[in-house]
Amino acid sequence: MAIQIEPNVLKDLKAYGAGDVSACFHCGNCTAVCPLSENGGSFPRRMIRLGQIGAKRELLASAEPWLCYGCGECAQTCPREAEPAEYMASLRRYQIAHLDPTGLGRLWFKVPAFALILSLALLGVLGAFLLTVKGSRLFPQWLFGNTVAYETIHTVGMVVGGVLLALLLGSFATLVRKSGLVPLLKGRNLLGALAWLGGELVTMKRHGECEAQSAIPVPRRKNPRVVHWAIMWGFIALGVATALDFLFIYFMGWTIVWPARVLGTVGGLVMLLGVSGAILRRLTDPKAGTRRTRFADAWVLFFLWVLAVTGFWLEIVVTLRTSGLVHDWVLVIHAAMAMELVLLFGMTKMAHVLYRPFMLLKHRLEQTAPMAETAASPSVP
Ligand code: SF4
Ligand code: SF4
Repeated sequence: MAIQIEPNVLKDLKAYGAGDVSACFHCGNCTAVCPLSENGGSFPRRMIRLGQIGAKRELLASAEPWLCYGCGECAQTCPREAEPAEYMASLRRYQIAHLDPTGLGRLWFKVPAFALILSLALLGVLGAFLLTVKGSRLFPQWLFGNTVAYETIHTVGMVVGGVLLALLLGSFATLVRKSGLVPLLKGRNLLGALAWLGGELVTMKRHGECEAQSAIPVPRRKNPRVVHWAIMWGFIALGVATALDFLFIYFMGWTIVWPARVLGTVGGLVMLLGVSGAILRRLTDPKAGTRRTRFADAWVLFFLWVLAVTGFWLEIVVTLRTSGLVHDWVLVIHAAMAMELVLLFGMTKMAHVLYRPFMLLKHRLEQTAPMAETAASPSVP
């Protein structure tokens, strides 16, 4: 298929955080130094070339931005200061924004003031709703007096979960269509690719290869692979525990030893450690320093950190069976922030949880594709 050229792609990508990649003269240093560049390939330089010629459709369909873990090795050796690592990060934001069916994802990443106002407005609306809508009390044992009815949180939470599901289904349909995954499934070893993906998600081996090349040893608490692993699996465990809580609490009642609660507690602790490590790294590591952190990325870390801390606060309050106005407000903040995170999931960095595994699977299938078919993919001049 012929490449369609769109002239404003590089300018647009700058708004997503890319540096001046027009300065790149394709010396290949970044490819040579990238620990994840495969078989003498052109990663990440191929993506830069596609951006320079304005191949928007190819950029949006490519799995390559998701193969990069942002170690920054390439940026250290670029003679043109084109910041290839930042460019790859901007492509991930670009793809997420273009998969968001609401269209707000583009503004979310490009205009920090918009992201801040949307986030605060949503928090205000959700918080006011939770504080003012009262249902009949199905849980008289609930400890938070009359400030917030648990039934309200439960009902609103179910609606928010339904909205997330609808949005994600829309995003996924677009992703499957644009990525060209379906033709790749024909005649390939899907089970083998899924097994490889499972191993990769559990071990994050590729991420480890990325870090292994770093000349400066990183302490474990700030090690990106450990941090990434903890945030991802902590978040998934917490998400599963919350969903089980919402779906089954009417049948199970409230008990701290219910498996979903245990899963939530462990997941919350793992995520809190991971997010704290990520924040610490951004504040102290010059390669991943605060200068490069965009508002949309900081927002995710801030939300996850506050959610984990307030979640443990509520866990302790419930276990000790204490009550008070402060706890009521912690509950309102926790519930409103959790619902906002769920509503905005598909347009924020949180979407990594879905899109990276999907694109890794696509890449694995591409690697195992018959030669006749790989030769048909668009070539870069
Ligand atoms: S090292 Fe810099 S100039 Fe060389 S190919 Fe990579 S991005 Fe371009
Ligand atoms: S940031 Fe690291 S993984 Fe990504 S392209 Fe550069 S060297 Fe490769």
